[in-house]
Amino acid sequence: MSDCIFCKIANHEIPSDYVYEDDLVVAFKDLNPLSPVHVLVVPKKHYDNITDNVPAETLAAIAHAIEVVAQKTGIDKTGFRCITNTGDDGGQSVHHLHVHVLGGRKLNPTAGEGE
Ligand code: AMP
Repeated sequence: MSDCIFCKIANHEIPSDYVYEDDLVVAFKDLNPLSPVHVLVVPKKHYDNITDNVPAETLAAIAHAIEVVAQKTGIDKTGFRCITNTGDDGGQSVHHLHVHVLGGRKLNPTAGEGE
């Protein structure tokens, strides 16, 4: 999508603070971090959200990227939270599938993203 900010970041049209990249996904630091580690894992191809017929290969690549991001940032040892907000009620503000990887501090177990 030509006007999608995450498509532009994934294609390196807009610079970002990248943490990981492979053929299918990129991971970069969230602009407004809600925790000491807050990384977004994003497929390079545009999918609106997790319900948008995402191929199994891409889902596996996202899972792998989460693992690598956790290892690179050290939160694999302490624990972390993965969230994908979906649609308006889910609080999705960027309509390109992304998984928030949050950690680096104790997160509220009953709250949502970053709380
Ligand atoms: P969501 O509300 O789940 O759609 O999450 C969108 C996230 O994208 C928010 O946490 C924003 O802070 C983040 N964000 C928006 N624009 C950028 C950007 N240019 N670079 C990095 N993160 C961004």
